Amino acid sequence: MTTRKSLDRHRRIVIKIGSALLVDRKTGLKKAWLDAMCADIAALKKKGADVLVVSSGAIALGRSVLDLPSGALKLEESQAAAAVGQIALARAWSESLSHDEIVAGQILLTLGDTEERRRYLNARATINQLLKIGAVPIINENDTVATSEIRYGDNDRLAARVATMTGADLLILLSDIDGLYTAPPHLDPEAKFLETIAEITPEIEAMAGGAASELSRGGMRTKIDAGKIATTSGCAMIIASGKTDSPLSAIESGARSSWFAPSGTPVTARKTWIAGQLQPAGELHIDEGAMTALGAGKSLLPAGVRKINGIFSRGDTVAIIGPSGREIARGLVSYDADEARQIAGRKSAEIEKILGYPGRAAMIHRDDMVMTAQISSKSERQKKDASYA
Ligand code: GLU
Repeated sequence: MTTRKSLDRHRRIVIKIGSALLVDRKTGLKKAWLDAMCADIAALKKKGADVLVVSSGAIALGRSVLDLPSGALKLEESQAAAAVGQIALARAWSESLSHDEIVAGQILLTLGDTEERRRYLNARATINQLLKIGAVPIINENDTVATSEIRYGDNDRLAARVATMTGADLLILLSDIDGLYTAPPHLDPEAKFLETIAEITPEIEAMAGGAASELSRGGMRTKIDAGKIATTSGCAMIIASGKTDSPLSAIESGARSSWFAPSGTPVTARKTWIAGQLQPAGELHIDEGAMTALGAGKSLLPAGVRKINGIFSRGDTVAIIGPSGREIARGLVSYDADEARQIAGRKSAEIEKILGYPGRAAMIHRDDMVMTAQISSKSERQKKDASYA
């Protein structure tokens, strides 16, 4: 059983940040909170995860900059507020991330960008490229042009779509709610907190009330909808409070949060996709011991890799070639080719010393691997090899 608290075991993490966390109605942007969040993001990136941010707050910040009175805004007013707020929001992210020498890239999406396949692939390619160069995509809905029929309207579901689109394995929804309760806790003293949600059943859906505050559109309803989108495509989801500084560190040190387990089926879908890649970006040639380990359902450790062919980046699909030269599996590799070459044949414990950071223990984690050939026992294989001779 994996520990859900250790965020850094995830490869790609989407963090959704609610407006109320970033913007104070009176004083505007919460700079200190943002700086602390960026330090948390930098720490996750250092440990090897790709991080994407879905940041709300454009309308709230625009309201504050324009000093608009509280209360509902007309569509064109909120679009103008978003236009003013988004530019300030993006600048704030870019500035705070730069403290840790991280580059931010702004992505504004409309519903059509994630629903139409061609635009979806285009948006995905841009986001992937940003990740490849080590930047943090700062994503929001393009509120300035989105009208009610063609908009998400809430960033919870947008974040879930971004998570599935980019193959993220964890979505973290940070807002002023620390997780899912059996009933709204401020109304029902008997409400129980749910720490782990194995599956989003109709009962779980019924627990999600509708309420939303003025600053945040999404209540629990949109969070559960996001959970359905994310978990059915194999992405875990955490709902946690972002009200304290450094909420990501807080989750890791055990702060209360609700964890939604990814459903089992999508792993198969992802594995099917891995197996179906037309052209693996490289080859990892492994030894007999590693082959036996793979046959027993284990991950591929650097120690068992003898030779590496090709140029690839972390997350690319590579073929795993057995001692007899035939492909036995494929998987998403945890290291860039040059790093993989440096640690090939070495013990996992030596990775930090060699690369200068504590990378993943496995060259390819078993969850990211699919066998493409049957592995028979050693003696059978020797017989077979002999018959070819
Ligand atoms: N896109 C909106 C904004 O940035 C926020 C939507 C939401 O709060 O979910 O203001």
